[in-house]
Amino acid sequence: MLEKYCPDLTVLAIPLRNKFRGITVREVALFQGEHGWSEFGPFLEYDDLEAATWMRAALEAAHQPWPTLYRNQIPINATLPIVAAEDVAGILQRFPGATTVKIKVDDFENGSKVVDEVLGINAEYKIRLDVNAGWSAEDAISNLLEYHLRFGKVFEYVEQPCQSLQELALVKPEIPIKIAADESIRKRLGEGFQNFSDYADFAILKWQPLGGFTAAHRIAEEIGLPVVVSSALETGVGISHGLALAASFPEEIRASGLGTVALFEGDVCDPATLAEDGYIEVKRREPVLRERYLASAERVTHWKNRIVRTLELIERGSE
Ligand SMILES: [Mg+2]
Repeated sequence: MLEKYCPDLTVLAIPLRNKFRGITVREVALFQGEHGWSEFGPFLEYDDLEAATWMRAALEAAHQPWPTLYRNQIPINATLPIVAAEDVAGILQRFPGATTVKIKVDDFENGSKVVDEVLGINAEYKIRLDVNAGWSAEDAISNLLEYHLRFGKVFEYVEQPCQSLQELALVKPEIPIKIAADESIRKRLGEGFQNFSDYADFAILKWQPLGGFTAAHRIAEEIGLPVVVSSALETGVGISHGLALAASFPEEIRASGLGTVALFEGDVCDPATLAEDGYIEVKRREPVLRERYLASAERVTHWKNRIVRTLELIERGSE
């Protein structure tokens, strides 16, 4: 089964420079199909059902041609994990030319120090906050009003301030900052996306978590909001597919969260898939340096078992 669907399977463990969403090592699997290399990297806590959606994306990218592309380079935003203010300048340096900075925040006090630091480096930066569903509706309203009072109109949007759609609907009319839905999309696949403008102003699209190019376009159409493409902390191989997704929308594309290889110790592609002058070129990439980050035998076994289970789920689903 692995040979049939995932030829040249290679499991990687890549150290991160800063802790990001609670992890310090990113494990992913790469494999090759008729159309090139692909990536499968559901986070370790995800169950097989959710992982199967990521696998559909990975299989589509390996075994089918890319969708029609409307541009050959994509503007990239800088991404700041939750860090101390003194670490901000060093991380921003890894995103040369970015004019938009996405900042992961957990509260007002720490987050506002980071926003302050970012704007001190360049007052022209557009700021996106990402709360990863961390606040109640009440906390979201009070925190976001404080951010607005303190920093004014620097915010392009706040990503997923609360978890549920009901909470987002309460928050949206109360704050002068636009809302982008992320988890509300990728954690609710199959539940439908009617009336999304009641909850959000932007839709975050991610190549793997949404199940690939075709699925992401179907979801974007159903939601009907302007889209922003972002990564799921992939290597240059997965990022290349994210770039293709961003390039496959005919309308003007906003800065995409696809510069996240900068958060890794290094890439498996050469040169590393990083922004130059704020952009990354759209092209298929090969993991020529994959030997640098090979996972241990024990982790390879874990991933092979996981992949077989997700492929079995997919095969059963399509019977
Ligand atoms: Mg997010």
